[in-house]
Amino acid sequence: MIQRKSRDEIKRMRHAGHIVALVHQEMKKVIEPGISTKELDNIAFKIIKENRAVPTFLGYNGFPASICTSVNEQVVHGIPDEKCIVKEGDIISIDVGATYGGMVGDSAWTYPVGKISHELEKLLIYTEEALFAGIKQMRAGNVLDDISSAIEAVANREKLGIVRQYGGHGVGHVMHEDPFLFNYSVGDKTLLKQGMSIAIEPMLNLGGDDVVVAEDNWTVSTVDKKPSAHFEHSVVVTDDEPLILTKLMP
Ligand code: MG
Ligand code: MG
Repeated sequence: MIQRKSRDEIKRMRHAGHIVALVHQEMKKVIEPGISTKELDNIAFKIIKENRAVPTFLGYNGFPASICTSVNEQVVHGIPDEKCIVKEGDIISIDVGATYGGMVGDSAWTYPVGKISHELEKLLIYTEEALFAGIKQMRAGNVLDDISSAIEAVANREKLGIVRQYGGHGVGHVMHEDPFLFNYSVGDKTLLKQGMSIAIEPMLNLGGDDVVVAEDNWTVSTVDKKPSAHFEHSVVVTDDEPLILTKLMP
């Protein structure tokens, strides 16, 4: 069942989303060659706690950290580790969740580490473009498949692989609510209505679509070891423009 959020619930989600955005703001500043993914996790934990929120990921199905850190060919769900140190030319996807007032904000971004190749730069630009193409479709009267199709169109145009096994999701009282949102068209005609909140999160690859889960039972990587990018915002359908919840409040 898809829950529609009240004004008050949306207000709390906006607050949770602001805290998530504060973490991303700091990640953008501190990510540089030589930093470990564990240090990034410590920074994120501190910011979430200082803002009287709960790190949603910590303990979620046993996940041991406050953020997911996925480097290069890692797609999602990478576990922060003091031995994982990023270097010049890498890309790193940071996925952040914060719960405030019982409501969840969920947002991911892929950051360059120092100077990256032109090819990687384009991967980041187009995956972010796919996210915003999807967000644009978050309007009352559209259907779920409009979001999926918009994401797929950008990926196909740029000949990027689309991760099939993972996708977006309803978000709110818990991190993963109905509906599931594919990043490619499956013809889902579920009608979008005011108050529906969805985490839209394209995961696009420089190579093929296929991914595999590592022995740690978390880290998802591309099978062909080609780099992957991940951009995500939690968004709510209003009676007007789509409202992005996971950005800084003015
Ligand atoms: Mg996320
Ligand atoms: Mg998500």
